[in-house]
Amino acid sequence: MLIPDAEHDNIVLGERPLIVCDIDEVVLEFVTPFQAFLTANGHELRPTSFRLNGNVFSLDDGGETPADEVARLLEAFFTGQDAWQTPVLAAADSLARLSGEADIVFLTAMPPRHRAVRRRLLTLHGFDYPMIATEAAKGPAVLALHGSRTHPVVFIDDIFVNLQSVRQHVPGTLLLNLIANDIFRGLAPHPGEGVDIALDWPHAEELIRAHFAAAR
Ligand SMILES: [Mg+2]
Repeated sequence: MLIPDAEHDNIVLGERPLIVCDIDEVVLEFVTPFQAFLTANGHELRPTSFRLNGNVFSLDDGGETPADEVARLLEAFFTGQDAWQTPVLAAADSLARLSGEADIVFLTAMPPRHRAVRRRLLTLHGFDYPMIATEAAKGPAVLALHGSRTHPVVFIDDIFVNLQSVRQHVPGTLLLNLIANDIFRGLAPHPGEGVDIALDWPHAEELIRAHFAAAR
């Protein structure tokens, strides 16, 4: 199986349900460690809205950090992500239980050049499922994976445009919005029609099990 515009592990799906799962803010903490990384590098994230740009300020003079500098800091963060990012509470246990009845594939929008360090970090924390790294839209990637199979599909992500992309390309998918960081979850707009909000991993697991049961 080959996903266009992506680098990925070998993926072989069984005749069973499929769970496609984002990584940042879903199985690895992103906002919380990125805040710590910014502070260590002379900046701070003051979350007043559900975005990074415009919310990062210099600790030196209090001025807003320009978007190109935020992009540079993000690149440095992903390069050294294994020193910063930690697993989201209960994610590994929930996925381990769900892997008994479904195939799990990670789909991350991170540039493929950071794939090796992320792969090692995931495996270290018990997330031993194949990963796809692509900056292309997520809907077509899920469609390429699932094709015309009739098994249930679940897609979990913190970003609404990704959830709506999958909604458009693979109708019938159970779409779950999960945001690990409490402050960002509080700031997030509604994820849009057809998307369920999971408050945490135990809640996500409950919604996924109900979806599988309904399909049997
Ligand atoms: Mg994410």
